[in-house]
Amino acid sequence: MQRRSFLWSSAAAGLMTLPQFVLADDDAKHKKEGRNNKQPSTSASPAAAVAPPAVAKARVIVIGGGMAGASVAKYLRLWGNTVDVTLVERNPQYLSNIMSSLVLTGQRTISSLTFGYDLLQSRYGVRVVFGDVVEVDPIRARVRLATGAWLEADRIVMAPGIEFDAVPGLDDVNLMPHAWKAGAQTTLLAKQLAAMPTNGVAVLTIPKAPYRCPPGPYERACLIADWMKANKPRAKLIVLDGNLDIVTEKDNFSQAFFGLHASVIDYRTSVEISSVDTRQMMVYTNYGAFKADVVNLIPTQRAGGLVASTGLATANGGRFAPVDVLSYASTVAPNLHVIGDSSATTQPKAGHIANQEAKVCADALARIFEGQAPDPAPVTNSACYSTITRTQASWLTAVFQYDPVARVMVPVAASAAASVGWKSGNFKQMNEWYDALMADTFA
Ligand SMILES: Cc1cc2nc3c(=O)[nH]c(=O)nc-3n(C[C@H](O)[C@H](O)[C@H](O)COP(=O)(O)OP(=O)(O)OC[C@H]3O[C@@H](n4cnc5c(N)ncnc54)[C@H](O)[C@@H]3O)c2cc1C
Repeated sequence: MQRRSFLWSSAAAGLMTLPQFVLADDDAKHKKEGRNNKQPSTSASPAAAVAPPAVAKARVIVIGGGMAGASVAKYLRLWGNTVDVTLVERNPQYLSNIMSSLVLTGQRTISSLTFGYDLLQSRYGVRVVFGDVVEVDPIRARVRLATGAWLEADRIVMAPGIEFDAVPGLDDVNLMPHAWKAGAQTTLLAKQLAAMPTNGVAVLTIPKAPYRCPPGPYERACLIADWMKANKPRAKLIVLDGNLDIVTEKDNFSQAFFGLHASVIDYRTSVEISSVDTRQMMVYTNYGAFKADVVNLIPTQRAGGLVASTGLATANGGRFAPVDVLSYASTVAPNLHVIGDSSATTQPKAGHIANQEAKVCADALARIFEGQAPDPAPVTNSACYSTITRTQASWLTAVFQYDPVARVMVPVAASAAASVGWKSGNFKQMNEWYDALMADTFA
């Protein structure tokens, strides 16, 4: 399989119809590099079992088994030949954030979003350790678990996702859930919405960018509005956006907010939350106070705590980790790599991109362990579907390629595209895309 193609494989099933999914062929170069036969064919098809190496060429510890961490662990085993991979994850199962807003409308269950680590172990020979990493030692390339045990490696890949800023007055997060990490908060928010009066008021807050899943809060607002029309006919949804304007897919979300859902959604921009009162259900802002029956408070975000405590979060005002996007090596500690939402790149913080970054990182590490340099011209793509109603979706896609002068991934102008409006066919494709992405990551 061609190197450029593998980066796209996760989208294959669901996005075949999107116009940008045509790739440059660098197969010849790949064959010359001798890596060609190590690429898996397509995302969703299970590979033959790969046994753990008898004698490891190199050892890698991956911290966090989410979209980025599970993907890098799998692809390091597929492409890294005899690389020994240990994945450390605090939870026994992964709950997918992607699609989790559909739990709020009763269209998905949490169990339909749950993925295990068994196949990473049995098919690919990834060693999975369930535990909490509490310290990373960049000098000796080792990590300490909450149990006190140390694990050593040659390289460490950090993929711990995000954490939230504290909000003044938020003394009980369950009274104003973010539901921005799928799980108990998601079902809780669903229950709170179901229990609100038919003429009730809900508030949804959107943090300042960069945050996890740029279209996510807007599509959640659309979903809730559509659900309210059927279930809470006189209810309102106030959307308090910390940004100057809709941050992505502006045409579609503007039409949805000010057209299709205008009777339900009251959209405000440049709103800064100063504090909340969970007893009175009040949200205090630079534009006054808002009282609500339900508050979906999505706070400002930063890299998983381990990234900051290791001293890697030096970008975006100390929130995220700057990396060399040829290998995702931290610019602060080059034997530590940071992928997924924790990294600071020009690409969106999204599960699809996390999977792509993981593949670039796995390929780079495999080359480094063979004494080679990383691919000097990586290409990634971002693909996203947004639910505008409970049955219709829009889409947005972009391709990023490495700019050797600026040393960042830049969007390829000709490749950027979004659907004009939304339709049910896109909703169906969204489910196919999701199944392919999750299979590429966990199966
Ligand atoms: C509502 C919603 C909808 C979304 N929709 C989409 C979408 O349609 N398309 C899309 O591409 N993206 C979407 N996203 C974004 C996507 O979920 C994230 O971008 C993606 O999960 C990031 O992957 P990650 O690996 O960086 O983090 P995560 O997937 O969050 O994984 C981090 C993992 O690290 C583990 N971890 C953290 N710290 C430690 C530690 N110290 N020790 C051990 N383990 C640790 C966590 O338990 C977790 O399993 C959505 C997000 C939300 C909230």
